[in-house]
Amino acid sequence: MQSNFKFPDNFTKLFIGLALVALVASCATVQQRAADLGPGFTQVKEGIYTFAPDATTTTCSFVVTNEGVVMIDACNSPLQSRNMLAAIRKVTDKPILFLINTETHGDHTGNNFIFSPPARIINAEGAGAGMKKEYSPKRAETFAAQSPEMREAVKGEKLIPPHIEYRDRMTLNVGERTFELFYLKNVHSFADTAVWMPKERVLFAGSAAVVRILQNLRPAVVIADVLASYKLMKALNPEVVVTGHGPVTTTKTFDENEAFYALLLKRVGEMAAMGKSLVEIKKELKMPEYADWNGQDRLGLYIDVAYKSVKK
Ligand SMILES: [Zn+2]
Repeated sequence: MQSNFKFPDNFTKLFIGLALVALVASCATVQQRAADLGPGFTQVKEGIYTFAPDATTTTCSFVVTNEGVVMIDACNSPLQSRNMLAAIRKVTDKPILFLINTETHGDHTGNNFIFSPPARIINAEGAGAGMKKEYSPKRAETFAAQSPEMREAVKGEKLIPPHIEYRDRMTLNVGERTFELFYLKNVHSFADTAVWMPKERVLFAGSAAVVRILQNLRPAVVIADVLASYKLMKALNPEVVVTGHGPVTTTKTFDENEAFYALLLKRVGEMAAMGKSLVEIKKELKMPEYADWNGQDRLGLYIDVAYKSVKK
């Protein structure tokens, strides 16, 4: 009787053992592939890769589908874009079909030319006009002056505005993947897009919130709209959040930025109520709770925008 049970028992052990070996081997392959892409690359989910060169530099990402590649943003410098292109080629030889710009600024869009053609560029309505307004004809020259490598990388530079501009929302189906694009109003640039992958629960949030960074906040930003965008994006319940700058994160980045804005508005509001001028507020107001965030010299830009908001 006992010996009858021994065979299936050992067989089960062997089976579990083999399954574990297979699982460990497949995990190792996945990690290996992400590590092979070089510093700054993270595989956030199977076939979804993000390149965040450091704590503050522009983040760019790519998603592999069975039809081809979809990119999110074109990376900060032409050298980083070439690095990105090399990384994509290590993972797949499929064509780059689409490149979604999450905003209009050059550090996300200026290197569209490296991927397009063949990539078709997508962003919300007004993006092309915004990019043309912001474009510096000296861009290529400025990069070329940095180093011989950069001079090589920036060759062929030209402005590539979106081929496709959508209004409010857009669904992009590529192979087995679905990308839902949301227009976010007044949160950062002339046209901002969040990209949501519902099946994978990965959100590319753009620059309405960046990770522990005070950014170059433009005067056209409206804090109420920024906070509304956090609410919308949190309601999607993403597992992974990739913002326009900084490492891969979660919805905690929305909570942190929301708390920052709440405290800033409270302080600016109190000082304005005491009759202090914008100049006085900018001189006196401190945010020591956020002293470890990058870009401390930009606090004044935030006070400008907050002052406008409390004076409304
Ligand atoms: Zn920007």
